Amino acid sequence: MAGFPSTDRCDVAVIGAGCAGLSAAVRLAARGQSVTVIEEAPRLGGRATAFDDRPSGRRLDNGQHALFGCYRETYEFLRAIGTAARAPLDSTLSLVMADSHGRTSTLTCPDWRPPFHLIGGLLSWEAIPVIDRVAAARMAGLLWRVRRDGAARTAARVSSRLTVSEWLRQQGQPASLCDWLWNPLAIAALNQDPNAAAAQPFVRVVGELFGPSPGASSIGVPTVPLDELYAAPAARFVEARGGGVIRRTTARVELDLSGRHRVAVGDRMLSPRAVISAVPWHAFGRLWNGSVPAQLAAIAGNASRMSAVPIVTVNLWLDRPVMTHRQIGLVGTEFHWVFNKDVGCPEGERQDNDSGCLYSLVASGASSLLRLGNDELAARAERELRACVPGAAGAVCLRALVVREARATFSLAPDAPPRPATVTPIPGFFLAGDWTDTGLPGTVESGVLSGHRAADAAMIGL
Ligand SMILES: Cc1cc2nc3c(=O)[nH]c(=O)nc-3n(C[C@H](O)[C@H](O)[C@H](O)COP(=O)(O)OP(=O)(O)OC[C@H]3O[C@@H](n4cnc5c(N)ncnc54)[C@H](O)[C@@H]3O)c2cc1C
Repeated sequence: MAGFPSTDRCDVAVIGAGCAGLSAAVRLAARGQSVTVIEEAPRLGGRATAFDDRPSGRRLDNGQHALFGCYRETYEFLRAIGTAARAPLDSTLSLVMADSHGRTSTLTCPDWRPPFHLIGGLLSWEAIPVIDRVAAARMAGLLWRVRRDGAARTAARVSSRLTVSEWLRQQGQPASLCDWLWNPLAIAALNQDPNAAAAQPFVRVVGELFGPSPGASSIGVPTVPLDELYAAPAARFVEARGGGVIRRTTARVELDLSGRHRVAVGDRMLSPRAVISAVPWHAFGRLWNGSVPAQLAAIAGNASRMSAVPIVTVNLWLDRPVMTHRQIGLVGTEFHWVFNKDVGCPEGERQDNDSGCLYSLVASGASSLLRLGNDELAARAERELRACVPGAAGAVCLRALVVREARATFSLAPDAPPRPATVTPIPGFFLAGDWTDTGLPGTVESGVLSGHRAADAAMIGL
């Protein structure tokens, strides 16, 4: 079996090769533990991966991913595997937004001490009527609290029953500021409509982005396909230290209260000293060789009640370049961002077979779009691109490719079930995955933070 270690004994079995499982495996391998990662899909990377698109000759992401300066754990992981430079961070936040009337406006935050950088940027942002800009200053109090107490504690004080929209109303934020900044930020970060998503994770995100330093909100867009950013280099890192990475094989776990756990991997049986589950919430119930252990029944029950939120991406190849910016946020439209896939790609690494200029339009929280046909989705994306980006008006669309991720993230609605902790009631069995209780929304940073926590917890008993 490819990637199978020479012995059935290993220190830790990590199940799932998304960013949570791979970051756990890298941390353990770096500390000298023998690790076996088991992944049931043919591709590594889970929900942040890439595939070959034959007609264009490109390797395309399953959906555009953006990282931020506040992704501390993610950048630590990327530095460990030597790829941090493949997602370079802008020096400060500069956000280009456009609405369907073709009106474009850029929010630029000066390099001042937080929260003055955000407040300064908002006070001079011409997208917002002057009278509404003053409301921006009301966020200063929140950001001072973040500086004093940290983003996690500040968010925890927000009522868990409030939605993002209700909280923004409480903070006296006017419609213009919500339309141009807070709602696009909420839907991008939480992958859910601000009327449905809980305020707590949103406040955490605002605190992480705008609280600590101007660099925390700078954007890092990968310049390579996602699997080259982390999945393949992480697998090489683990294998170079004597570990194994097994693909195309579903793992089934048998836990033993005395700590003699077993993991069935095809027709082999591993006997690791610790097991880290890094599978998503919807796969937790089928992780078992037999039924879910009684001690984990509550976690499995909550996981089965979590609901999924989709992301739909429409890749459009146009006959000419239509924008110079790397990305533009779209205001009041069904698609929320357009990414120029030819910006930032190092010279000589463009992979197109002359198939045109590639733009990816992303619709987050896209439940209402998921069931539309590909032609309809492509037509809507094209219409919105032409309306928001004047340069696209006369361009000819050569080809469209729709990518649907039905279970991109989990719902963060106020009534969502509680998320589980890293340490479980069963010794030697730990949980990772973006859906565990990191306090962050379903993001790469949540996945990597959870992976690092699980690795640290597993190390204590090894
Ligand atoms: C289109 C899209 C766009 C996104 N954009 C962003 C963004 O811009 N910024 C951001 O931070 N986040 C973004 N996200 C979210 C981010 O991708 C996820 O939060 C993150 O990748 C989750 O990682 P994970 O390791 O927790 O889970 P996963 O990536 O789901 O990995 C779990 C793995 O476990 C495997 N598995 C399940 N059961 C078994 C089993 N029994 N045996 C073996 N293997 C098993 C699965 O095949 C999977 O590979 C986006 C997600 C999508 C889909």
